[in-house]
Amino acid sequence: MGILDGKRALIVGVASNKSIAWGIAKAMYREGAELAFTYQTERLRERVENFAAECDSEITVACDVTSDDQIRRVFDHLENKWGSLDILVHSIAYAEREELQGEYLNSVSRDGFRLAHEISSYSFAALGSAVRTLMQGRNGAMLTLSYLGAIRTMPSYNVMGLAKASLEANVRYMAESLGPEGIRVNAISAGPIRTLAASGVKNLRKFLAFTEDNAPLRRNVTIDEVGNVAAFLCSDMASAITGEITYADCGYNILGVAGI
Ligand code: NAD
Repeated sequence: MGILDGKRALIVGVASNKSIAWGIAKAMYREGAELAFTYQTERLRERVENFAAECDSEITVACDVTSDDQIRRVFDHLENKWGSLDILVHSIAYAEREELQGEYLNSVSRDGFRLAHEISSYSFAALGSAVRTLMQGRNGAMLTLSYLGAIRTMPSYNVMGLAKASLEANVRYMAESLGPEGIRVNAISAGPIRTLAASGVKNLRKFLAFTEDNAPLRRNVTIDEVGNVAAFLCSDMASAITGEITYADCGYNILGVAGI
């Protein structure tokens, strides 16, 4: 018996077998959830269909979150197929590569700021709002992915840190909005992991090495470990947890000075 038996989850953000969303999908499937997936572009469609098949899922829908139309179509599709939804996993972020290097004020731009916040933060509210009616009466759970750069400065993370700060505030405001309907909203703040999105941040290799040398557990977190935390947070075992940012980072966030 799994902790997600009988639950239906929509996974937004699988792009490769390194994606955090893939770690989450595997854990949720193992724990008994039935899954549906979105893919950002046609280029990713076949790949995501193959990942879905590995989880016995035939539901894959196009969704670029910059399109209200595509967001609406995802939920129309789920309404037709399932009629309800228990779990929404939002595991996406984007900023222009040139904004993720150098000093913050030298790289930030009006358009880059808007795009990073729209895709990385606003989209969680947009998806949450669209899925709300499908979650009525089901103890629903929504989950997003953040990073320590939301509350501390990080080299090169720049505008993405601001977008993650907005995303974490989104978690709290959405939790307050949806709590009376029994829907919980949480985030996992994961340590650095080598993925397609993370490789856009200059010097990712050094982030990984520094964490490995200094985090209390002296290693980096894996997508499977993030998946396990996600499965727990979206299960009824976490029924009193909402509006929280949970760290899955081998303890790195507790450090003050390190490496002396
Ligand atoms: P990833 O590249 O595997 O996933 C990023 C996803 O965002 C992709 O599936 C991509 O298709 C999607 N995406 C980007 N723009 C989109 C759009 N307009 N519409 C729809 N989807 C879009 O990388 P990942 O590291 O697994 O990232 C997942 C989440 O985890 C992100 O929010 C990221 O900031 C967060 N995170 C990553 C790390 C890390 O070190 N990898 C650490 C903490 C948090």
